[in-house]
Amino acid sequence: MINFKLKPAAIIALRYLFPTQCALCKQYCEKTLCHNCFTNQLSPNTYCCERCANPLAPLLHSAKPSSRARLCGQCISKPPPYINCIAPYIYENGIRELTHQLKFSANFTLAQLFAHLLQTPINDYIKQRGPLDTIVPIPLHPSRLRERGYNQTQQLAKALAKQHELTIINSLSRVKATTTQVKLSKKQRQQNLHKAFSCNPTLHL
Ligand SMILES: [Zn+2]
Ligand SMILES: [Zn+2]
Repeated sequence: MINFKLKPAAIIALRYLFPTQCALCKQYCEKTLCHNCFTNQLSPNTYCCERCANPLAPLLHSAKPSSRARLCGQCISKPPPYINCIAPYIYENGIRELTHQLKFSANFTLAQLFAHLLQTPINDYIKQRGPLDTIVPIPLHPSRLRERGYNQTQQLAKALAKQHELTIINSLSRVKATTTQVKLSKKQRQQNLHKAFSCNPTLHL
């Protein structure tokens, strides 16, 4: 068994040889993301629909607090099939860049960072609605998995499972090789993913 306990001098030497950098600004930083980038490069999704997490217009959130759920028009007129979506940050600026790094550059430390960013919202959800059952990562098509070598959602699932003491169940399969979503509109993404997954019918949660 290898003893990874290093003396402080060795740690300093390692840091000199392999200095850690902020994933966004690349400045030397002890964490994955520096304080400046954490504060200025991430856009918290503070005022959003409580069901689908789509950002709401300022007029809606400036109204007096109400005991009723804060829902967008779409969720009022045609509620989605899921109960709740958690999206604590808007997909722009830093979050977009970090997502691309996890997805395309195999920077797995970012899975830990994303799990950390999701920790408080998930704990709030558990407080309101009770414990979670399991984590089901979204699979890649086998051809994409061969090409990329890893599934980024599996990495995130591992970090979340550890953080919230949950088990991972790989109950989904990707049955359609879809084109990359990067440049597609919301509607095109929905069409692209139509009938792309199947669920193991023998699985009982
Ligand atoms: Zn930074
Ligand atoms: Zn909504």
